[in-house]
Amino acid sequence: MSRRLVVIGADAAGMSAANQALRTARRTGADLEVVAVESSDVVSYSACGIPYWVAGDVDDADDLVARTAAEHRDAGIDVRLHTEATALDLDAGQVEVRDHATGTTSRLGFDDVLLATGAAPILPDWARDVPGVLAVKTLADGAAWRELLASDPRDALVVGGGYIGVEMAETLARRGLRTTLVTRGEEPMSGSFEPAMGALVRAALERAGVEVVTGTEVTDLETGPDGRVRAACVNGDPVRGDVVALGLGVRARTDLATGAGLPVGERGGLVPDDRQRLTDGVWAAGDCCEVLDRTLGQHLYVPLGTHANKAGRVAGTNLGGGDDRFPGIVGTAITRAGDAEVARTGLTSRWAREAGFDVEEVRMDSTTASGYMPESDPVTVWALGERGTGRLLGCQIVGGRGAGKRIDTAATAMWAGLTAEDVAMADLAYAPPFSPVWDPVQIACRRLAERL
Ligand SMILES: Cc1cc2nc3c(=O)[nH]c(=O)nc-3n(C[C@H](O)[C@H](O)[C@H](O)COP(=O)(O)OP(=O)(O)OC[C@H]3O[C@@H](n4cnc5c(N)ncnc54)[C@H](O)[C@@H]3O)c2cc1C
Repeated sequence: MSRRLVVIGADAAGMSAANQALRTARRTGADLEVVAVESSDVVSYSACGIPYWVAGDVDDADDLVARTAAEHRDAGIDVRLHTEATALDLDAGQVEVRDHATGTTSRLGFDDVLLATGAAPILPDWARDVPGVLAVKTLADGAAWRELLASDPRDALVVGGGYIGVEMAETLARRGLRTTLVTRGEEPMSGSFEPAMGALVRAALERAGVEVVTGTEVTDLETGPDGRVRAACVNGDPVRGDVVALGLGVRARTDLATGAGLPVGERGGLVPDDRQRLTDGVWAAGDCCEVLDRTLGQHLYVPLGTHANKAGRVAGTNLGGGDDRFPGIVGTAITRAGDAEVARTGLTSRWAREAGFDVEEVRMDSTTASGYMPESDPVTVWALGERGTGRLLGCQIVGGRGAGKRIDTAATAMWAGLTAEDVAMADLAYAPPFSPVWDPVQIACRRLAERL
């Protein structure tokens, strides 16, 4: 008799797992049936593309869908849309599901269940159910943003200075709105960037026409007689916002697991083992989980599509009868703020010191191409290393076109445990349109190595 895998949540982690489980089962000869339940009407979409869809770079929501439910069904997965898992009965091996189309509730038996329920945006009380105030999480949010912008609002307020806040600020300014970004951080992105690098992000946003207000929390909104948002209270003054984008972060969706008595980690996410297994027959992957940071040796909550896809694939291999392990992360991420590419990997100086590392850091300015080339743009690289071992512990980059993906050199070095000296002398590509003779990451690492 075939084993049944029920996947709950059919986006990045869930559908990577579902497909990989079937592929592996074909290889191992396992007899596997895969059912994926999804509470919304869409599967396998790129939330990452939503700010660019709202900006108008992408015309159609369909372009953000990597694979439709029909395509997954053709591949052999029983995808059930508008179907929400409402409870997990581990003793009986059943999931309670509500079919939103028919309003009926039923039970679905499983041999294995994969929790891939993702994350939910943080919505403070003042932001709930106020017309004009929207998070940026789902394709439905993206559609609501496009509709909102079609009504020609003039002023936009973005609350939160992390990745999504910065991306939405850029988007709304590009759409011609007078845009203000408010963050409680010392600088934008200061949750995971050095303040001096965050200051460069602020400058880039300002060049893009965004007013940036730091060190401040929005705690309330003003609404007009029609109930729509009109302004937010910032430093005691109202800042106009006909539309308000919330970029306050996300929380792991773990209620099914906790309802079934499964524990969550210190950062609020599920903590599966390196095969993505929580307990017998129960697996988890993606934004509902914490991930192991290889440098700190601790689980952190880092909800990113890169990790969701990889962890889903690992879960799928194991569920299909193979053997795979999720090796952890080093904390690599990239975004854009106006004309600046913004990227990071590894620890910040604060995280490193809190973890007890003895560190040294450097920051230097260079160019993305040889200085005499027309495409040469400024770039700033910050790098952190460990005294004694010389190991590279972190790197951040803010600069013009071609700057950001250079972070992958540092990320790969960290992955392999290389020293700053190793990076400085590595054989990287050079020709004038692409780089100075010494790549900016190498210059930073060379200077860092001199200090370590
Ligand atoms: C605006 C934005 C930009 C981003 N940009 C980037 C980026 O540039 N790079 C990057 O790496 N990451 C980025 N991310 C993060 C990335 O999108 C997520 O990490 C990724 O989508 C996580 O995938 P997931 O499958 O774990 O969760 P999700 O994508 O959240 O999917 C979970 C699915 O489960 C469904 N679900 C939840 N509960 C139930 C239930 N009880 N029953 C049935 N279905 C349920 C949900 O409807 C959802 O479809 C961005 C996210 C956003 C919102």
